Amino acid sequence: MESRKFFEESSRYIMNTYNRYSVVLRKGRGMKVWSPDGKEYLDFVGGIAVNILGHCHPRVVVAIQKQAQRLIHVSNYYHIDPQIKLAKLLVEHSFADKVFFCNSGTEANEAAIKLARKYSKEHIGPKCFEIITAKNSFHGRTLAALTATGQEKFHRGFEPLVPGFKHVPFNDIKSMNRAITENTCAVLLEPIQGEGGVRLPDQDYLKEIRALCNENNLLLILDEVQTGMGRTGKLFAYEHYDVIPDIMTLAKGLGNGVPIGAMLATDKVASAFQPGNHASTFGGNPLVCAAAVATIETLLEDGFILDQCNRMSKYFMKELEKLKEKFPRLIKELRGKGLMLAMEITTDGDSVVKACIEKGLLINCTAGNVLRFIPPLIVRRKDIDQLVNVLEGIFSKLD
Ligand SMILES: *Cc1c(COP(=O)(O)O)cnc(C)c1O
Repeated sequence: MESRKFFEESSRYIMNTYNRYSVVLRKGRGMKVWSPDGKEYLDFVGGIAVNILGHCHPRVVVAIQKQAQRLIHVSNYYHIDPQIKLAKLLVEHSFADKVFFCNSGTEANEAAIKLARKYSKEHIGPKCFEIITAKNSFHGRTLAALTATGQEKFHRGFEPLVPGFKHVPFNDIKSMNRAITENTCAVLLEPIQGEGGVRLPDQDYLKEIRALCNENNLLLILDEVQTGMGRTGKLFAYEHYDVIPDIMTLAKGLGNGVPIGAMLATDKVASAFQPGNHASTFGGNPLVCAAAVATIETLLEDGFILDQCNRMSKYFMKELEKLKEKFPRLIKELRGKGLMLAMEITTDGDSVVKACIEKGLLINCTAGNVLRFIPPLIVRRKDIDQLVNVLEGIFSKLD
């Protein structure tokens, strides 16, 4: 089928919720993806921070194949061994004691919101339900997570929203302090804002938030859906900031591409959930858990991939700095940690993304003019060189 036919049928049969680029992708391996007619793309989007080990990583593929032959799905009424293995791995490598599995980032946040409300009503006070989040944040598209998301453009048309959410400027401890009332039960933050344009907090912000939470009996929920699973150079971003949350949510990188989310908590907080309080039919099923176990085991084995992520992060940033020196009018700022890097430009980002596609390079644009680079953590120097070359060519024409 020629490409035009794909685009026609896609818009005829699929709801119009994405501004899709004119690219069909059928095959992937490592850093590369291919269209049905064989056009090759170097992928610095990685399914939006999902494919941490690259496309079709052999260990993940084999784990899925083996599990598919053994058992794909059974109900959570029964014990599921890959789920137990995965929970144990997550607990052993994080602050958490218990895990709840679901299918996406937004669901992980819904679970966190429910757990925080229930815990606080039972342990702090019956009127404790309000959750404070940050402006410019992103927490997902289901109604409570959408309400938690501090960006009006995502809310428009979907009112009435869920009661009990308040937004304050990110990285502003005074505003957070002022927003706390006797009804507040939790603070929900991304350690580094992703969709909002890769915004980093000051080094002490999260520590100060933790102290504020302790003083006021609030739970600290960290949304690590994007920053988790090695993306920032540590397994979880909270490790950079010397804080321990009460609840953490994960999804994107957790299964290297299979749909899985998780909500992790300390024993004390997790005990507020009892049988019947929360559930998910597919959550943590054998197939996705086997993929996630293979993903984490590969990621953690001898720390090689995290080292690689940190080395490539330094190299990447250095190369982007050189580009910034060449194009000071076009490039406003470089930001990021690990392999969650961003270049804020002074022109429309989408046209740069389209020009990159023409040159066989996939990059992402968020918040209008922020080019975001969230490649697989296995990215190599020559891939980064190729990206920088392509950008240099495009910027030369724009400058
Ligand atoms: C992507 C994202 C979500 C939503 O995840 P979905 O799997 O799309 O529901 C939530 N929080 C953060 C920080 C994200 O980056």
